[in-house]
Amino acid sequence: MDGNVIESDVLVIGGGIAGCVAAVRAAEAGASVVLVDKTRSVRRSGDAGRGLAFLTTYLDLGEPWDTPEVFADWYCDIALGLVDMEVARPLGIDPLPAVCRFLEESGVPLRNADGDYERVGRMWTPGPIVLKFDGADIKPRLAERAAATDRVRIIGGVHATSVQLDDTGRAVGATGFDIRSCEFLTFRAGAVIVATGNAERVIFNSPRRDAFHTYHRPYHATTGFALAARAGAVAANIEFLGTFLFPRGFATGAMGNLLEAGGRLVNGNGQLIADLPDVEGERRFGFGIVGKAAGEVLAGRGPVYIDCTHLPPAEIAAISDYISYDAPLFLEFLEQSGIDLSRHPVEFELFNGAWSATGSPKGVVVGADGQTRVPGLFAAGDLATPAYALAGSLASGYVIGRTAAEFARSAAAPVLDASAVAAERRRTLAPLNRTSGIGWREYEHQLQDLMTKYVGMDRNEIGLRQAAEYLRGYAAAAGEVHAGNGHELMRAHEAFDLRLFDEMMTAVALERDESRFSFLMGHYRTDRPGADDQRWLGVSILAGHDGEQPVLEHTVPTPSWRAAQLENRSVVELVGERGARLAGKVG
Ligand SMILES: Cc1cc2nc3c(=O)[nH]c(=O)nc-3n(C[C@H](O)[C@H](O)[C@H](O)COP(=O)(O)OP(=O)(O)OC[C@H]3O[C@@H](n4cnc5c(N)ncnc54)[C@H](O)[C@@H]3O)c2cc1C
Repeated sequence: MDGNVIESDVLVIGGGIAGCVAAVRAAEAGASVVLVDKTRSVRRSGDAGRGLAFLTTYLDLGEPWDTPEVFADWYCDIALGLVDMEVARPLGIDPLPAVCRFLEESGVPLRNADGDYERVGRMWTPGPIVLKFDGADIKPRLAERAAATDRVRIIGGVHATSVQLDDTGRAVGATGFDIRSCEFLTFRAGAVIVATGNAERVIFNSPRRDAFHTYHRPYHATTGFALAARAGAVAANIEFLGTFLFPRGFATGAMGNLLEAGGRLVNGNGQLIADLPDVEGERRFGFGIVGKAAGEVLAGRGPVYIDCTHLPPAEIAAISDYISYDAPLFLEFLEQSGIDLSRHPVEFELFNGAWSATGSPKGVVVGADGQTRVPGLFAAGDLATPAYALAGSLASGYVIGRTAAEFARSAAAPVLDASAVAAERRRTLAPLNRTSGIGWREYEHQLQDLMTKYVGMDRNEIGLRQAAEYLRGYAAAAGEVHAGNGHELMRAHEAFDLRLFDEMMTAVALERDESRFSFLMGHYRTDRPGADDQRWLGVSILAGHDGEQPVLEHTVPTPSWRAAQLENRSVVELVGERGARLAGKVG
């Protein structure tokens, strides 16, 4: 083998919440663990790096809404029936009380100064299952717990590029490179966990078109999907897109905080569009609010604002207090923008293109043990189908750390294929060998432009076919991308992975020849605006990959999926009347 091989029982790729918890749990199960992350320190990496404020969980303390069954019911609802509950239960829901104990043992305070849990209901929860806590330091606490474990070795500044298989098709390691020195690295492991987070940066985020000044998280470049797909794993529901409301000029949301506190959504003429009773009335599908806002903007009555000026000073102070730990930068943003909540409404705008479906029924498909279709390859956190935000990332990491350790213990010693590693080394370092050609920035920009135009909010067959053809051209053009240093090499590989993901997404969007859940949140085909419930409702599309060719498969819903329940809901109920009209679904 070329160069040093870094050995462990379990290799974890991605040191976010899911990766850190998985590493601790694998080590506690007796495995030696190597955890790699492309940032240099996992103390503040990933989504949780800037701190979190709520954990959506049941605690099973006796209230009727506080049980795993009610939680599962709600989760199935917000996942629009598209998640396999037989996997979501063991990986994302059942472990939650144990996960809470794990957090408290790790030094994350879940209770207030009186020793009580503080729980609230949010827009569409079945009861007050949202646990408010001071999560400012959740990430350092979990990273410290991982680092303090003798069996865990954390290596920062490594961008993973491939999962390596043995001649039986089992995952036995990975490759990557140091993003400063460009040194190529090889990892051998009995089991591999990929926990690289969500997929973003696929389409432009209207209207700024710059991934770094928006809610798009720069580290979410679809790499985990590419790693899993190239190894033979499949992903589900990747055709859906999400649209949300965000404060104009600011890169994170606080719509929930302001509306729940009594703020009112108003249009440019100051007319009320929605307020708290409205929000509560739409508990099951809160994105109806987004539909109403979109309706006002498209009807020429935008922009839209959230107005808190009618609230008494004590309530404004309470909002500010809550935001101070939920979204502290939002308070700074308001101050710098000269916005005083008691005197000024806050402008919100439509944010396009987070790649998501409500809940998290999208992602790399895993079984109840967290294993993908590829033996020895596991997926955890936001990358995997059953995970839901912080709760799902914690719970899936908690389970998968242990199952991956058990897999590694019972499997034969891992054997790397030297020729496959050598080929991956050539592919990985190739952009460094070119002194001219296409820069990563241009390559990525072109991809995002293409996806925005053809695979964004409005799609049709001609556009999707066109996109698929262009993407084949971009596959060839990848051979002309050059990089002058480790950072550029990382960005080049992120762009290559985006292209692969784009190809998968385009293929499944083309395959789903109907519309599902409107253009505000979901998959909207302008040439097939109707839903085809007979063929598609509750059906998950899987996209695998064979070499450079996407492979499509269809699964039938498991009995626990709530297809029938969704079938009885009209589009108007889902997105509100105005949203439905805009989507051309009612006259
Ligand atoms: C601002 C914000 C606030 C939030 N607040 C809440 C909240 O209060 N409650 C809640 O429930 N949820 C919240 N969420 C969502 C929650 O934080 C995430 O669901 C969760 O942290 C995801 O964890 P993860 O480990 O799956 O992924 P991530 O946190 O995305 O971690 C992925 C890691 O993988 C690394 N990585 C990626 N690609 C590679 C590669 N090729 N090689 C090596 N490393 C790689 C990244 O650097 C990153 O560290 C919030 C999210 C954001 C952005």
